[in-house]
Order: sequence, then C-alpha cells, then structure tokens
Amino acid sequence: MNFSLSEKDEKLFERAKEFAKEHITPKAIELEKRNDFPKEVVQKAYEAGLMNLHIPKEAGGPGLSLFSETLVSEATGYGCAGIATSIMCNNLAFAPLVIGATIEQLKEYVEPLITGKDAKFGAFCLTERKAGSDAAGVATRAVRDGDEYVINGLKCFITNGPQASMFTVFASTQPELKHKGLSVFMVPKTKGVQMGHIENKLGQLNSVQSEVIFEDVRVPKNALVGKEGEGFKIAMMTLDKTRAGIAAIATGVAQRSLDEAAKFANIRHQFGQPIGRFQGISFLLADMGARTAASRHLTRYAAWLADQGHDNSKDSAFAKFFAADSAMQNAIDAVQIMGGYGYISEYPAEKLMRDAKLLQIYEGTNQVQRVVASGRILKESVNLDTGFKVKYDGQDAPIP
Ligand SMILES: Cc1cc2nc3c(=O)[nH]c(=O)nc-3n(C[C@H](O)[C@H](O)[C@H](O)COP(=O)(O)OP(=O)(O)OC[C@H]3O[C@@H](n4cnc5c(N)ncnc54)[C@H](O)[C@@H]3O)c2cc1C
Repeated sequence: MNFSLSEKDEKLFERAKEFAKEHITPKAIELEKRNDFPKEVVQKAYEAGLMNLHIPKEAGGPGLSLFSETLVSEATGYGCAGIATSIMCNNLAFAPLVIGATIEQLKEYVEPLITGKDAKFGAFCLTERKAGSDAAGVATRAVRDGDEYVINGLKCFITNGPQASMFTVFASTQPELKHKGLSVFMVPKTKGVQMGHIENKLGQLNSVQSEVIFEDVRVPKNALVGKEGEGFKIAMMTLDKTRAGIAAIATGVAQRSLDEAAKFANIRHQFGQPIGRFQGISFLLADMGARTAASRHLTRYAAWLADQGHDNSKDSAFAKFFAADSAMQNAIDAVQIMGGYGYISEYPAEKLMRDAKLLQIYEGTNQVQRVVASGRILKESVNLDTGFKVKYDGQDAPIP
C-alpha cells in the first residue's frame, strides 16, 4: 500500500492548486456578487487543461482516471465550491456517455465540445419537479417516430443549463416499466429546447441552475445512449462515479474551513492570548482536521475502486455523505471560531457555510447516500460469519 501520489498526479494536483490560488480564491467573493456563471474563470480552467478530464483519448480527451479528477475537484473546491461546480459539471454531463455510448457517438457528440478554442458545456438532465431522489419517477417522454425520437418534458435544477450546448436527457421510453423503461439521450441545443426559470439559491452563487424544457424535440435514433431501458442503470453507474467528485469538492471546502479558522485562531487575541490557546477552540480545530483527513481518504479510495473496475457504490456513498457532512460541520465551526467576523461576508467563513449546504443535497441527498450504503451493508451481512454463536430471537446467528 502506498499513500503517496504518482509524479503525474502530484504535478496535476499542484497545477490545480496554483490555478485555484491565482484565479479562484482571490476572486470568488467578488464574483459571487454577480450571482452569475463565472465565465472568464471557467474559460481559464479550460485553457489550463482542468476540464473534461475523463473523456477518453480516442474521443479527444486526456483520458485521466477518476482519482486524478478528484484531485482537481478538491483543489478547485478549496477555492470556491460554486466555481468548482461550474468547472466540473461537464464530468457529470458526459459521464453517462463515457459509460454507455460508443466511441463513434462520443466522437460525434462530445469531441467537438471539448477540443475547440472556447469552453463548451454539457448539462445532466435527470431531476424533475416530481422526480428528485426517486429518479424512477421521471415523466419526460421519448417516443420513437421512424428514425427519430421525439422528446417532451421539463427538467429542473439543471446545472449549467443556460450555458449548455448539449443535454444528457433521461426520458422514459416505456413508462409502464417504471425505472426499467428509462432511457438516456444526447440532445444538442436544437429546436424545441428552451430554458425556463433560473433558480435563486442560498449558496454556490458562482454556478447557475435552470429549468430546461423539451418541447417536441427531435433527435436521430443514434442519439440514444446504450439500449432503450438502460437509462436507470447508466444513471446509477454515473452517480457512483461522480459522487467521488462531489466528495472531493467537499474535502476542499472542509480543508479551506480548517485553514481559515486556524489562521484566524493564531492571529485573534482575547484575554491576552491567541484564541487558539483556548481548549474550546483548539479541540474544534482538531476535530475539523480529522474530518478533513478522513474525507480525503474516503474520497480517494472510492475513486481508486472505480478506476480498478470494482463496484464502488457503498464506498462512493460513504465518501459523499461523510465529506459533505464534514464540509458543512467544518464551515459551521469556522464561523464559530471567527466569532462576529465569521458572520460577515467580507470574511470567507459565511460563504463556505452557504456553499457547503448544497454538497449535502445535490447528486443524491446525504439521506439517499445512507440508503445506498446501508442497503449494501445489510446485504453483505446476510452470510457474514462473525464467529460468535448466539441465538437471536430463537435463530442461530447470522439470521438467514
Ligand atoms: C443547486 C442544485 C444543483 C443541481 N444540479 C442538478 C443537475 O445538474 N442535474 C440534475 O438532474 N439534478 C440536479 N439537482 C437536483 C438534485 O440532485 C436534487 O435536488 C436531489 O437529488 C434531491 O431531490 P429533491 O430536491 O427533489 O428532494 P426530494 O427527493 O423531494 O427529497 C426531499 C427530502 O426527503 C429526503 N428523502 C427522499 N427520499 C428519501 C428516502 N428514500 N429515505 C430518506 N430520505 C429521503 C431527502 O433526503 C430530502 O431530505 C440540483 C439541485 C440543486 C439544488
């Protein structure tokens, strides 16, 4: 076992950290006041080669591992979770295609979006007003008409919706089959694709979400990813991977909260000494440090499992809920450690706190992550022999 990064990953991580230090961290609070998409920063990230990392080389991408991707997400998340969400959203939008599309489809639909001079965007369109955690409830319909599909429906909360040139759309081809009737399509910004309401949010104001409306949108039959009915499976496989990315952004937020709080605790004096000397403050810092380190290990392990081709469902759920909860708790503690200054928007902690909340909600709420993880734990325990023989409710353990 080796905990050090490879030379290539070390360089990538350093490059992403330098980028965040120069282009994200100093500008994030100012940019947030615009409450808009941080176009110029995202363009710079694209030019610096920090976007679209998982697209295979055959389709014009760098073909990096999920592990490498989490390093960039952590570094950009340290600078600003909202900007990181804007930069890394293509990972979510294109992941279903990397999983389910052919190389020919990737070359046709994705390569033109990732190889030009300007950054271009995809949007992942799963959520609807009546289908959030219960993704099987998607009402958007795709109906086959000759060599085309006709898509109708309304998606909401779609990150980078207004910026996107291509939409990865989950639509039902056979509603009576529920989740087994779900399919996924690559939909360019074409006739019938319209932006609806732009969402106003609590935090992550450096990212944009909107409704996306599909009205009689016609796509050729080769816009279908995989086979009809494979949409739900592809969505779940996608989220198993991309949750490590959210956990990595969360690790960045947790680390930043710790760093800002520790810096402040050294400088701020009360009762004739730095506040960091008070045990009430220093123990908070110790817990924040442990949570950050544990988040990082869980995240990298979940990504490594996926890169090795292992099932990482349980571990990516662990990473996502633990790192997101840690980011939230660390941000709250940073506000507390900074006292009144923690609550003031010229200081970094209040933004960290607002930004962190979303990490517990998007790409599957932390409750849903616990549903996924506990489901696996119970399944794995059925045939578990702990070596301890006892009767539970009159039955030999383990309970069959
Ligand atoms: C800023 C932002 C960006 C987003 N970006 C995208 C995007 O790009 N693409 C996209 O498709 N979606 C996106 N989403 C949607 C996001 O993934 C959903 O909001 C999330 O999955 C939860 O769905 P919901 O909001 O409908 O809540 P609901 O599913 O209605 O959940 C409400 C509450 O019930 C709990 N709950 C639900 N089911 C269970 C259960 N089985 N057990 C225990 N508790 C449960 C939830 O945890 C939550 O606390 C985004 C959302 C936001 C806010």
